[in-house]
Amino acid sequence: MTIYIGMIIAGILLFFILKSPYKYPYFVHYFDVSGKRKPQKEDLLDKFLNEGNFYLIEQHNEKVQNWKEDCQKKLEKGVLKNFRTKQYHKILNDDNAFQFVLTRQQTRYRQRNYIKSSYKVDSVDSQFSCSYLYIKNRNEQLKEINSECTLREYHSKNQRKLMTKELRKKIMTRDNYTCKLCGKYMPDEVGLHIDHIIPVSKGGKTIVSNLQVLCSKCNGHKSDMV
Ligand SMILES: [Zn+2]
Repeated sequence: MTIYIGMIIAGILLFFILKSPYKYPYFVHYFDVSGKRKPQKEDLLDKFLNEGNFYLIEQHNEKVQNWKEDCQKKLEKGVLKNFRTKQYHKILNDDNAFQFVLTRQQTRYRQRNYIKSSYKVDSVDSQFSCSYLYIKNRNEQLKEINSECTLREYHSKNQRKLMTKELRKKIMTRDNYTCKLCGKYMPDEVGLHIDHIIPVSKGGKTIVSNLQVLCSKCNGHKSDMV
């Protein structure tokens, strides 16, 4: 009997000694995609970066580097060096260090004492992961285009499709409903055009810095010249 107990205890001890002591530090960020029909993961990441969040990625990358250094130091000093080194390398996962989870809020109902009430639950829609270098590279590309839109939008063949109600409103407010060429004021929006400064046909993009308010007269003159 005591032999069995001894074996069980030894087994438990062995399990804890051989268990990997390493835990890779993942970065996890949640995107709320409630109400979005087909959320594009690259767009979500680009918008996150355009909002100036790259410093969070850099901070975390530093954390991973520090963690690696710590592990290396412990490996040098510790016992079971070869075994631990294998365990350490096994859990390294730089390619997927940055994890993004898309969540949706769902409304559910419960009934108690004939009273129906609603409550919200977050459910996971999907997730993706990438490396620090991938994000760094993307962030650099976004900076080159002044972080004005996502890379997909920038390279989209259909720039006109990217003109949204919100963007129109933004340009009208910025330009104070005033034609940038002749100064005509159009608060009722009649005859007001949102013009691509560099025309779409010449590679102009649907981004804030390439848009302006024009009146129909000036817009007409411009298209004549083009
Ligand atoms: Zn005008």
